[in-house]
Amino acid sequence: MENCLFCKIINGSIPSDIVYRDEHVVAFKDINPQAPVHILVIPTKHIASLAEPEAADGEMLQHVFSVIAKLAKDFDLKNGFRVISNVGEDGGQTVKHLHFHLLGKRKFAEGF
Ligand code: AMP
Ligand code: ZN
Repeated sequence: MENCLFCKIINGSIPSDIVYRDEHVVAFKDINPQAPVHILVIPTKHIASLAEPEAADGEMLQHVFSVIAKLAKDFDLKNGFRVISNVGEDGGQTVKHLHFHLLGKRKFAEGF
């Protein structure tokens, strides 16, 4: 989608530190990390947020979570991690493309 920051990251027109990519999912390091490991996991399909789950098929969301579990392993988060998806203004969502924050190794910021 035009003018969507994360769609631009997916198509490479904005650079990012991509740690995983396949046909349906892209994961990259958050530019303003709130924990020692802070990765954003997003579907390649533009979906505004979890308020529009009908825009995502269940299989795709299942795949997103399997990628999150794989990344948690790859980044050695064996003691645990957080997965957060902010929705809408009151939820603190600043980028209107569905994304899951994967946070690990502690030092979680207030509000996360
Ligand atoms: P949210 O507040 O849940 O919408 O999260 C948006 C996240 O995107 C924030 O944690 C930002 O630090 C992050 N972010 C914004 N621009 C970029 C970028 N160009 N590359 C990587 N992460 C970004
Ligand atoms: Zn988008």
